[in-house]
Amino acid sequence: MPRVSAYPMVSVAEALTTVLAHASALATETVPLVEARGRVLAEAVHADSDLPGLPRSSVDGYAVIAADRAAARQVLEEVTAGRLAHAQVRPGTAVRIMTGGTVPEGADAVAMVEDVEEVAGQAVVQKELRSGENVHAPGMDLSRGQCVLSAGTLLGPPEVGLLATVGKAQVRVHRRPRVAVLATGDELVEPDQTPPPGSVRDSNRFALIAAANDAGADVPWHAHELDDEAELEARMREGLAVADVLLTSGGVSMGTRDLIKPLMDRLAEIHFGRVSFKPGKPLTFATTAQGKLVFGLPGFPVSSLVTFEVFVRPALLRLAGRADVFRQRVDVELAHDIRPDPVRPEYQRAVVTWEDGHYRARTTGLQASSRLLSIVGANALLELSPTPGPVAAGSIVKALLLTNL
Ligand code: AMP
Ligand code: MG
Repeated sequence: MPRVSAYPMVSVAEALTTVLAHASALATETVPLVEARGRVLAEAVHADSDLPGLPRSSVDGYAVIAADRAAARQVLEEVTAGRLAHAQVRPGTAVRIMTGGTVPEGADAVAMVEDVEEVAGQAVVQKELRSGENVHAPGMDLSRGQCVLSAGTLLGPPEVGLLATVGKAQVRVHRRPRVAVLATGDELVEPDQTPPPGSVRDSNRFALIAAANDAGADVPWHAHELDDEAELEARMREGLAVADVLLTSGGVSMGTRDLIKPLMDRLAEIHFGRVSFKPGKPLTFATTAQGKLVFGLPGFPVSSLVTFEVFVRPALLRLAGRADVFRQRVDVELAHDIRPDPVRPEYQRAVVTWEDGHYRARTTGLQASSRLLSIVGANALLELSPTPGPVAAGSIVKALLLTNL
């Protein structure tokens, strides 16, 4: 009798829905602006005042009345950024002004210094001006009360600048997710060791730590353990004690040393134990009574990274408070024939480039789930529906983008 999995096969969409239903944003904390990059905003932020508050010159030059037809104008004074003028501009007069200076009362335009000749305190404007030319009106950049950032926004350089602009020296963000990574397998040795015959170096632990960090999570705990039930259970408990999410690698297939599913069942509640998906069918997902997430990732290096990308990363972003947890998808044209899996949706690794006005995709060569070189350098996963035969060059397929193109 063939061995039959106890777990029904769920679709990618079902699995993702289940995962996200169990992932909610972590608690919040307040951080100073210099620590805000990479964090996720937990509050909506509004402009505290108009910006600029007063009309501001966008160039170095002379503040004048645009409609003034005087041949030469008396230069009354000079205003630099941060200092207000005393004088009022009337016909026949001008105020020398520097970029960022407040346009004096009366003036409605600024003539660029390149268009003005100043001789003996008299400015001759050599170009006609429109009213408002080179003047930034109050509220042009921001208007008081305007919502400038919404909760769930990832804070990058422009957002941090905007927070400073509106006076948010401290900002409320979500706590970073904490991830524990446990690599399992009798055959694994450390990267600094030479594997004896039949063994391999543990790469998943390090790839998964990097992937978790890339997704904005901290990894306070990681370990490798042999395929021993009691030891694995102790390690899983250790990881769960310090993390919001436990990732295990290996030991979720149908082999006799695949001990992770029963252990997940003991420590948590399993929501699915198989996904119709390639590479990574045995992916298993559970939650503990405390609401922690446990992912049993498959052992093959590409399977563990691809399942991380498709299922774990969105969960980590959701925990981190992100409103938007999915990668962008685009239509791409195949540069060559490909052969998708005939039964399961397959995620083939590819390089997408912009050529002749559209996206073209080339896969990274042999798509074996052991071959890390098939994901190294890839910037997209082609989402391929099961197809009995090859898909011809020139066909359009969907690609999930791993980076911003
Ligand atoms: P498993 O699902 O535990 O049977 O693992 C399947 C295969 O994946 C193993 O035979 C190894 O070749 C490989 N593998 C498992 N764990 C790792 C790891 N941490 N790093 C690199 N390769 C691994
Ligand atoms: Mg194993």
